[in-house]
Amino acid sequence: MDKFLTKKKLTELLVSENLDIKKYLGQHFLVDRNARDKLLSFAEISKEDVIFEIGPGLGALTEYLIEKSKCVYGFEIDNHLCKILNKRFGHYKNFNLIETDFLQTDENFWRNFERVKVIGNTPYYLSSPIVFHILKFLKKISLSLLTVQKEVGEKFVAHPGNKNYGPISILLSLYTDSKICYSLKKDVFFPKPEVQSVAVKIIPLEQPKIEVEKKFWEFLPLIFNNRRKKLVNVINKIFKLSKEDIIKIINKIGISENSRVEELEPEKIYQLYQMVNIQATVFPEK
Ligand code: SAM
Repeated sequence: MDKFLTKKKLTELLVSENLDIKKYLGQHFLVDRNARDKLLSFAEISKEDVIFEIGPGLGALTEYLIEKSKCVYGFEIDNHLCKILNKRFGHYKNFNLIETDFLQTDENFWRNFERVKVIGNTPYYLSSPIVFHILKFLKKISLSLLTVQKEVGEKFVAHPGNKNYGPISILLSLYTDSKICYSLKKDVFFPKPEVQSVAVKIIPLEQPKIEVEKKFWEFLPLIFNNRRKKLVNVINKIFKLSKEDIIKIINKIGISENSRVEELEPEKIYQLYQMVNIQATVFPEK
């Protein structure tokens, strides 16, 4: 099949279908076939793969995914786009369109699947919530390839000491092997976005460094709100532990008394959380 929509074909389709582009849903459509092929080569798709595609849009990735994989579940929130997707791809037996918000997929849904690959040119405003969502279902995922705003992708893979280092970098580092694998120029999308994009490849670790723990996820933004402050003062302020007790804890873990939050390795932050969780009488909600 060759259903790829170049910019010219896509604009014709918008007119013939009387379709408005919804900026509030982050709609920027990929209109460069070479960029599409290069991007998807990083997903190493085979006929065994079950794919979840987030936001198929008008099908720029979907066409390739249908052809190369065992089957595709496309999650699209825009009804009008769903009608067009059904017209274009509804007759393929290995394509299932799910007309819903991807973030609403829950345990009941995911339990029907063994292992899937999660792929998408994500709406920029939703990229971090999407990553937090897929982190909950990592045991069901063999790989994820997500196109996101460049600055957001840099946050995902940031290391201690970097200004982008934060909760999402820590979680991705503890549960996955994640890398930026590809940069996409603005003009491969229509309408052209104001920001650069990168593709992030996320491979869940066979043995995650920690178990999924909701309270730890809540702990991270609490301490990162004070990322530049000294750790001792931050923990003292939030958890009402005495400075003396905190110094004992951080010495035990092997962290320097002068460390700042943003300098700590993910594993050290998790150890710190465990100790604070045992000792603190006050553990504020996020
Ligand atoms: N994949 C298409 C492409 O590359 O040309 C479209 C990408 S566009 C950046 C993002 C798509 O995600 C849009 O089609 C938008 O309607 C859809 N979308 C936005 N929020 C969504 C959500 N919560 N769940 C599923 N799809 C969503």
